[in-house]
Amino acid sequence: ARIVDAAAGEDDAAVEAALRPRRLADFPGQTKVREQLGLVLEAARRRGAAPDHVLLSGPPGLGKTTLAMIVAAELEQPIRVTSGPAIQHAGDLASVLSSLAEGEVLFLDEIHRMSRAAEEMLYLAMEDFRVDVVVGKGPGATAIPLELPPFTVVGATTRAGLLPAPLRDRFGFTGHLDFYEDADLEVILARSARLLQVPAHEEGIAEIARRSRGTPRIANRLLRRVRDWAEVHGAGRVDLDAAGRALALFDVDEVGLDRLDRAVLDALCRRFAGGPVGLSTLAVAVGEETETVETVAEPYLVRQGYVSRTPRGRVATTAAWEHLGLAVPEGGQP
Ligand code: ADP
Repeated sequence: ARIVDAAAGEDDAAVEAALRPRRLADFPGQTKVREQLGLVLEAARRRGAAPDHVLLSGPPGLGKTTLAMIVAAELEQPIRVTSGPAIQHAGDLASVLSSLAEGEVLFLDEIHRMSRAAEEMLYLAMEDFRVDVVVGKGPGATAIPLELPPFTVVGATTRAGLLPAPLRDRFGFTGHLDFYEDADLEVILARSARLLQVPAHEEGIAEIARRSRGTPRIANRLLRRVRDWAEVHGAGRVDLDAAGRALALFDVDEVGLDRLDRAVLDALCRRFAGGPVGLSTLAVAVGEETETVETVAEPYLVRQGYVSRTPRGRVATTAAWEHLGLAVPEGGQP
């Protein structure tokens, strides 16, 4: 597993639970979404009614699960947690829905990965608070409508575009999470250091924030490795020296690129003279699956302006050549 992977790893779960902010007021960053969501929740609270269903979209590790839990906490309601891949049959969903208490929050992670039949059942339930339970088989089967108490769905997706329109339309509020500014990551890291009870200097925190790809999950993971280094080799505190050395040990460079990212840039510049080169050719050159390069390395390289996508293939930018310490070729690159 890559240390800069934004997806949750097995060893992340327990620490992550401990580091999640519990209330909206303790959630740094995402100002717009936080204010919008705060308004939706406060209005519902004053009306004494369940709020509109909430859809949260954005890349992994930015706080969608955390916000779902905050929604429940702010509404003072219990939360039921499940995910699209866990709901393969409409029947799985029917049993979850029919056991919800009034006002309960249903968190559906990776909602774009539900089966089509479950999707259809979900959007009827979201609109009319009703499911049709099918009893029997074949021509004799009958659908028995079952009334549900009002509840609130919080859906999370990394790919809002993949949701069918009828389902997307059932969400009264959609919040788009974006990568965090370094300053917000610093606030998050300082708070995490406090919770982990490790002393931290401002410069150490800033260094970790700068290399965390705008992603709190990665920031918290890097912080844990820096803490390890500080406790074993350092003075027991997260400072600039500990951050620099621990991140060097784990191959995270000054701008947050890891070995795979650099291998991609290196192949692009040295082997393919800066491109354009097709993604699958590039993947073969670095010995990885095409999908890994496409979903894991490329988005950040593109976002940071090291690689651009063109109709003829991937192209290294001036920044890529400079980052590798190579001379930028005459006239050719964007
Ligand atoms: P997602 O569901 O979008 O993949 P999570 O909500 O699971 O992301 O967040 C991943 C980790 O990052 C958790 O440990 C969480 O505590 C932390 N985190 C995310 N956003 C924030 C934030 N705004 N403030 C503090 N911690 C955050």
